Amino acid sequence: MEKPSSKTKELEFGGRFGTFMLIFLLPATVLYLLLMCKQDDPSLMNFPPPLPTIESLWEAKVFGVFLLWFFFQALFYLLPIGKVSWLVAIGSSWIINLWVRLKGGLSAAFSMVLSIYLYIRSLKAPEEDLAPGGNSGYLVYDFFTGHELNPRIGSFDLKYFCELRPGLIGWVVINLAMLLAEMKIHNQSMPSLSMILVNSFQLLYVVDALWNEEAVLTTMDIIHDGFGFMLAFGDLVWVPFVYSLQAFYLVGHPIAISWPVAAAITILNCIGYYIFRSANSQKNNFRRNPADPKLSYLKVIPTATGKGLLVTGWWGFVRHPNYLGDIIMALAWSLPCGFNHILPYFYVIYFICLLVHREARDEHHCKKKYGLAWERYCQRVPYRIFPYIY
Ligand code: NDP
Repeated sequence: MEKPSSKTKELEFGGRFGTFMLIFLLPATVLYLLLMCKQDDPSLMNFPPPLPTIESLWEAKVFGVFLLWFFFQALFYLLPIGKVSWLVAIGSSWIINLWVRLKGGLSAAFSMVLSIYLYIRSLKAPEEDLAPGGNSGYLVYDFFTGHELNPRIGSFDLKYFCELRPGLIGWVVINLAMLLAEMKIHNQSMPSLSMILVNSFQLLYVVDALWNEEAVLTTMDIIHDGFGFMLAFGDLVWVPFVYSLQAFYLVGHPIAISWPVAAAITILNCIGYYIFRSANSQKNNFRRNPADPKLSYLKVIPTATGKGLLVTGWWGFVRHPNYLGDIIMALAWSLPCGFNHILPYFYVIYFICLLVHREARDEHHCKKKYGLAWERYCQRVPYRIFPYIY
């Protein structure tokens, strides 16, 4: 874990003003995307979509079910039954999926309450438990980026749990609900090919994240970012409700794709997944055991911190090969929706922006951590994410 040596001086995400705006902008974007998806013609020309009434956003029963869902996931996280627990959780949650879908407003309210709780408790946290990037002393900034690094209640790690369980599993559940809704609305005995592709690709991604859950321990979210509004909202609202947009879109805007097109998209997704998984595993295995004989064929640049930087293999191809694989998959998730509207491509466009920004943040941290060794690495591996482009 990175420990904050002092107050955070370099503010990210547009500083105090940027983070203040994002607290409103992120929920508004989720609402906008969901409302657009419900439109018959979700083109940009049809802006703004009709707004729902405040009363229609609130339903006590649904909020109760959402809380049940959250605490049910927490119970499964605590039970010592290993990786099968989330599979059981997916199966059991089937019953409540229809209530939970589209109630992003309630999850947003919950994530706001959770963020307020996280900020209040962080005020009592010892200095060494604060996040390197969320200790500026500015309330709004620290509230947004997360003041405490890894808040725990006893041994229950709130950030680790939220990063992996309720949001990711919620995403799969919403996708499955959309698949059923498509069959019901269009009187189909089988889901469409597009819907099957979107559901399978995203299920693979979630299963992979849960199966390799310890790999999250070497990610920026765990090591650098605190647990505040950004991650609470991201994990509990943005991931389940925005990442399931393609499936939601397909319910109201069916599209027929041929088998050869489906095969080509599947191959693209497999290529993306292969790059993503092998790059992440290579780095995680190396960080866990740099002397692993299976990795002895890889060349390493030593650094003053004692940690090495991989300079061949995937990490010698581009500086963030895992982002490259992730972006290729994101494209494969949008392509089954055809080319009638830009809306289902929101994910891939947003994701490229997110990862380009994230890559720049990571470069900045690595340059500070590794100094000259990082500069040598950049000379040896000049491209950041896209070979020969960027
Ligand atoms: P990474 O897993 O890429 O971790 C970056 C860290 O890796 C660096 O800070 C550095 O940390 C280490 N590193 C960098 N270069 C090297 C090298 N050459 N050799 C060895 N170690 C190196 O970052 P993220 O947490 O951003 O991403 C994790 C995964 O999550 C990615 O696959 C990403 O695509 C995905 N992701 C998905 C999102 C989604 O919404 N679906 C959102 C964000 C990320 P150190 O040296 O300290 O170990």
